Amino acid sequence: MATGRRPFFCGNWKLNGSIAESLALATDVRNGVSTLRDVDVAVSPSFTALYAVAKRLEDGPVTVAAQDCFWEEKGAFTGEVAPAQLVDVGCKHVIIGHSERRQLFGELDAAVNLKARAALRAGLSPIICVGETLAERDAGETIGRVQAQLDAALVDIDDAGLERVVIAYEPVWAIGTGRNATPAQAEEVHRFIRGRIGTRSASVAAAIRILYGGSVKPDNIADLLAQEDVDGGLVGGASLSAPSFIQIVQAAHGLQAAHGTQATKG
Ligand code: PEP
Repeated sequence: MATGRRPFFCGNWKLNGSIAESLALATDVRNGVSTLRDVDVAVSPSFTALYAVAKRLEDGPVTVAAQDCFWEEKGAFTGEVAPAQLVDVGCKHVIIGHSERRQLFGELDAAVNLKARAALRAGLSPIICVGETLAERDAGETIGRVQAQLDAALVDIDDAGLERVVIAYEPVWAIGTGRNATPAQAEEVHRFIRGRIGTRSASVAAAIRILYGGSVKPDNIADLLAQEDVDGGLVGGASLSAPSFIQIVQAAHGLQAAHGTQATKG
C-alpha cells in the first residue's frame, strides 16, 4: 500500500445467498466498516440480490458491485444484463473477466474488453481481473500472460476511462484453494501491472488501484498490504463471513492509521 492510494476491498459473493441472506450479510458488513473512513469497501451479491442490497446500503459507505455484465445496451440477448441496468439497480462497480468466467464460461480477452468499455460508458467502475494458471506460472509465463490479458482488456480505453478502472490480480491457482500468492509473488505482478499502465500514463499508473485476489484471509492480508503496489483485495470465500471480511478491511485501516494517511476518496 502506498500513500495517496485509498485501499479498496470488494467482497465477491459469487453464487451464494438468498435476498434475505444477502441483506443480512450486507448489513453486518456496513455496520462493521462504517467508522473506517480511510478504506473503500464494496460487496458483490448475485444479480438477484443486487437491488435489495443496493437499497439497503444506499447513502452508506459500502458500495455495490455486480459480478459480470454484457456489452450491449439492449436487444435480443436472452439472459444477459446491460451495464445501464446495473446502474439502474444501484451498482457502482462491476467485476469483469473473473477467472471463473474465463475458465467455466469461455470468456475471452476480447469479451473482457467489450464489457469493460460498456461498463465505463454506463458510468460504472470496472474491476478487471487478470491472472495466470498454475501451468502458466510453472512454465515461467506469468508476466507474459498477465501482460496479454491486461493489454487486451484495455484496448480503446482512454486515460479518462482508465482512471476509473480497478485491476485485480488473481492468480487462478490461488482462488478458492486456500493457497495464496506470497507477498513477494503478488508484488512482482502488481509492480509489473503498474509499470505497464505507466507506459501509457504515469499519473494514471500512480493512482490506479491494483487489488490482490486469491485466498485472502484476515491472517494473510497485512503482509500482502505491506507491499508497495498492493492496494486492497478482491475477496471471495472470506467475504461470506462478515467478521472475517471486516477484519480484512480493518487491517488496511490499521495500516493507514499507522502511516498517518488519509488518501483522497476514490
Ligand atoms: C475471488 O473470487 O475473486 C477470490 C479471490 O476467491 P477466494 O478469496 O475465495 O480465493
